[in-house]
Amino acid sequence: MDINTKTQIYAIIGDPVEHSKSPAMQNEFFCKTGINAVYLAFHVVKDNLQDVIGGFKKLEELRGFNVTVPHKVEIMKYIDELDPVAMKIGAVNTVVVKDGKWFGYNTDWYGVFKTLQKNNVPCNVKTLIIGAGGASNGVIYGLQQYGISEIAITNRTTEKAIAVAKQFDINVVDFASYKDELDDYQLIINTTTLPFGQMIPDFKKDVIYFDLKYYLESTPDFCIDGKAMLYYQGVKAFELWTGKIIED
Ligand code: NAP
Repeated sequence: MDINTKTQIYAIIGDPVEHSKSPAMQNEFFCKTGINAVYLAFHVVKDNLQDVIGGFKKLEELRGFNVTVPHKVEIMKYIDELDPVAMKIGAVNTVVVKDGKWFGYNTDWYGVFKTLQKNNVPCNVKTLIIGAGGASNGVIYGLQQYGISEIAITNRTTEKAIAVAKQFDINVVDFASYKDELDDYQLIINTTTLPFGQMIPDFKKDVIYFDLKYYLESTPDFCIDGKAMLYYQGVKAFELWTGKIIED
């Protein structure tokens, strides 16, 4: 695809951003669909967000962008119209620019939903989420949309687990003792930044394990990683920007 004066611009902003797989993925989607656009990664530290947003608002060629850590909440104040799902999740990872207006969406939950579907996870599994950081709200929303209703969360900082549990009407398990109760769960999800092996004593064959990280270290083959989550949040963002559906 030639880059010329008609080339549209898409981007991801975050800190760090150099590890992001989104530019390779989204540029491949643009090539595949024959859309004259380019997707770039911009390293934006917290203190520069306002200035970058000011510049973005003036760029006519900018049609949309992804937002990653640590800007997914802060970006919401620059959005003209917030999608109700993004409002419920409390974070925006996809901005659509149309006729000068900014529309904010969250597609992370869809990545979780598709991960569960692709792995044939049954809906009647009792689920424990370990970690209540930025990614956990999208995970819970994805689980609930999928039809999983028995969900509990545990987190090192208890207040964060309590706040998330209240928002999504799920249970809280004490971080000091959750390891004694693992036998109660058929699906265990690691949303912490630590390796799964540090959060649970062992892996059992009849339990489904899902770790959000793209690459898992020292976990059995049957653990689900975060690659599908990343891919499908990107597929949904692409659809929001272009109206084009990337087939599986
Ligand atoms: P985050 O907001 O920084 O949250 C980190 C979580 O890890 C918090 O629950 C934190 O507990 C916990 N934690 C950190 N150090 C800990 C320790 N020493 N002991 C116990 N708990 C600890 O991160 P995030 O944005 O939610 O992301 C979490 C992970 O998901 C990352 O590995 C990220 O790469 C991955 N992710 C993947 C995708 C995907 O598309 N596959 C999307 C989003 C995120 P406290 O609250 O107590 O600090």
